Amino acid sequence: MADVYESMLSSNVGRSLLSSLNLPVPTQLERHSQAQTSFVTGNVLVGAAPGGRMAESIASTLKASNATVQTPNNGSALAEIQAAGEKAELTLTAVDSSAEAAKFKALIFDATGIETSEQTRELHNFFHPVIRKLNDCARVVVIGLPPESCKSNPRQQIAQRALEGFVRSVAKEIGKKGATCNLVYVAKQAEKAAESALRFFLSPKSAFVDAQVLRVSKAKSVEADFNWSQPLKDKVVLVTGASRGIGEAIAGVMARDGAKVVCLDVPQAQEDLQKVADRLNGGMIAIDITDPAAPGTIADTLQKEYGGVDVVVHNAGVTRDKTLGGMPEKLWDMVIDINLSSEERINEALLEKEVLKEGGRIVCVSSMSGIAGNFGQSNYAVSKAGVIGMVDAYAPILAKKDITINAVAPGFIETQMTAAIPFATREAGRRLNSLKQGGQPVDVAEAIAFYASPASAGVNGNTVRVCGQNLLGA
Ligand code: NAD
Repeated sequence: MADVYESMLSSNVGRSLLSSLNLPVPTQLERHSQAQTSFVTGNVLVGAAPGGRMAESIASTLKASNATVQTPNNGSALAEIQAAGEKAELTLTAVDSSAEAAKFKALIFDATGIETSEQTRELHNFFHPVIRKLNDCARVVVIGLPPESCKSNPRQQIAQRALEGFVRSVAKEIGKKGATCNLVYVAKQAEKAAESALRFFLSPKSAFVDAQVLRVSKAKSVEADFNWSQPLKDKVVLVTGASRGIGEAIAGVMARDGAKVVCLDVPQAQEDLQKVADRLNGGMIAIDITDPAAPGTIADTLQKEYGGVDVVVHNAGVTRDKTLGGMPEKLWDMVIDINLSSEERINEALLEKEVLKEGGRIVCVSSMSGIAGNFGQSNYAVSKAGVIGMVDAYAPILAKKDITINAVAPGFIETQMTAAIPFATREAGRRLNSLKQGGQPVDVAEAIAFYASPASAGVNGNTVRVCGQNLLGA
């Protein structure tokens, strides 16, 4: 069935009609294009609570953009921000409160200095005067201290945990304009390592990542001459399930970022797989990942033909939906084996043979079903919750080898998989999020590329939802 709602949204008359019926009319999301030279442009307002530790890191990050960086014309931590700006040789201008029309492309607030619940008032002080002055597709980023790192001061731990409620509520209030709000918890001494996260959340690359909480831990930061536009130059990246859908988009974004991409899919998909690999000037492995010989074959191929691998993206996955009472064991086993067990076996082979290089990255694709569960998807939800478990279990182990493991959990993404859902269910899945639309495969790919970057060494053990703040949740 033709997508009636989507076609109405593409005309002005249709949009007005839907709006008058109080139906969701989403803002078209801005996405990254190669023509963009700066991760953020326009007015960016920076504020902080007293005692914050992020001012220098924010200033040096913004120095690399062509944004017009502004500060509130009063505020408790103004002096610290101005000093950090001077140190980074960043031109800061005080916001002109008489300029009624002035709008912001991004609001950044350093909340790391908040130590008590009373001090959460700093959030109100900074955001209240400006939250209605956002451009379409603006970015709001709040930076906090990981609550679990504040155990010696329970009041501070409580106040830092409270930031999550703020970010999730603001995201719901600004989503209609295509704007997002995210929280980055930056550990002590990880301030510089947070640059890749700040760039990602401020940029159009995070278009469909909304109301998320990311943790950055202490790690080596990249050299000053790091190539941010080709972060994966000279890196070898394996992408499973790369012949179509989200996997094809991941392979494309990795190649854009400079990587040699090795595309993997089942032998039946070889023709499409070859086309993707050829287009990206990459390599190809046609194998079923559940084949008992697959882990060994993949490890040997990567070692012999590419000298190892830097990034592994476990994207291949299937659904076989049935309510539990009607589900044959065959469908249970198949989904668990493809979506979870084969990934464990491949990881083990790559790590045991040291094919995954030091400083490597493992990125997994979970799902909203793995977080919230889903009707008729007990098998799929087990596999995708298990993927999150894999990230939790391996992150501390791999950190010792400077390897990171993280996951994305996509919500409703426009692919062949979701196009096959009946119309009414599809529309509900697509619209029930703060951005009132489905995501694109590239949105998942951009989040994966962020994890994969050498600049994201401090980003380990995270599961970030790429779901536009899906309103259905656990
Ligand atoms: P898709 O069906 O279009 O692509 C999946 C790919 O995996 C296919 O090319 C398929 O051939 C490959 N594959 C399946 N079994 C394999 C095996 N045994 N060995 C090797 N390759 C195999 O699906 P998609 O929508 O692009 O999904 C990609 C990933 O994203 C999956 O893990 C899926 O569970 C997850 N996901 C998708 C959505 C969505 O809305 N589309 C939402 C949440 C999670």
